[in-house]
Amino acid sequence: MASAFSHAIAALSIGACFYRPGVPKRFWVAGVFCSVVPDLDVLGFGLGIQYGDPLGHRGLTHSLAFAAALAGIVTFTFFRKRIPGLGSKALFAYLFLATASHGLLDAMTDGGLGVAFFAPFSNTRYFLPWTPIRVSPIGVSRFFTDRAVEVLKSEVVWIWIPAAVLALVGWGIRKRDAT
Ligand SMILES: [Zn+2]
Repeated sequence: MASAFSHAIAALSIGACFYRPGVPKRFWVAGVFCSVVPDLDVLGFGLGIQYGDPLGHRGLTHSLAFAAALAGIVTFTFFRKRIPGLGSKALFAYLFLATASHGLLDAMTDGGLGVAFFAPFSNTRYFLPWTPIRVSPIGVSRFFTDRAVEVLKSEVVWIWIPAAVLALVGWGIRKRDAT
């Protein structure tokens, strides 16, 4: 995984591209939630599920099908009260991208197994051809080690800065469209 902070930052930058004036806080919370949920699969280690299993780490919860399912569930449960100016299709697209960004970023890390983008139909694991992000150790206690500095550095360069640029561009386009 990339670290949870970085997944959240990626989700916020995607959210900025869907921003409308007056969006409620739950708009941002839902995006962050969707972006970190896929790593709940690490709980499976305690249940004896292996990394490479279909339900293992970077398996089903990191797939595009899961992203669509989670986005659908969150859209219909947390956003029964509509956000003015933001239709449920746009909301679904935002939450889908926030969830799917998790697998995409994991597929750009330099360690572990690849991401099962096409689960549950195929458990083939994929990396992108380009893997500049240092893989983050699994688990919070192991995160605070010397390697954490190195991991954070690579995430700042390859996730935080691009996310800031995306947010600024997305925000700028939204503002221009609103005026
Ligand atoms: Zn992950």
